[in-house]
Amino acid sequence: MELTTGSMSSDQIADIVVRKLLEMGAIGKLATATMDTIETESISLMDEVTRNVMAKVLALQSSETQASQQCPKCGSRCCDKPPQGKLLETRRGKVNFQTSVFRCEACRLDFFPSVRSFGV
Ligand SMILES: [Zn+2]
Repeated sequence: MELTTGSMSSDQIADIVVRKLLEMGAIGKLATATMDTIETESISLMDEVTRNVMAKVLALQSSETQASQQCPKCGSRCCDKPPQGKLLETRRGKVNFQTSVFRCEACRLDFFPSVRSFGV
């Protein structure tokens, strides 16, 4: 994943969102679009962008976890399992992302270190 944005400002990112809204035809005929349509479609697209941002940050966070984890319940060393897709309900809707998975054989439990704060 490319982590640098160069000199792109939030104003330039907004320009991209505006172009996307117009390309999608979400606003319809711009000259006669109502404030309600403009607001609804802007929020809808930005919520989609926000969900994508959260999924990417969560996947990045997961990729930075240590290769070997201790079980938060019993302290035993967990074994790594293949990454899994995880679905979270957020304030902006459902977010699907890839996360590391660790398994404690003693407790017979799987842990998802990137989603601790969500209580998953
Ligand atoms: Zn355990």
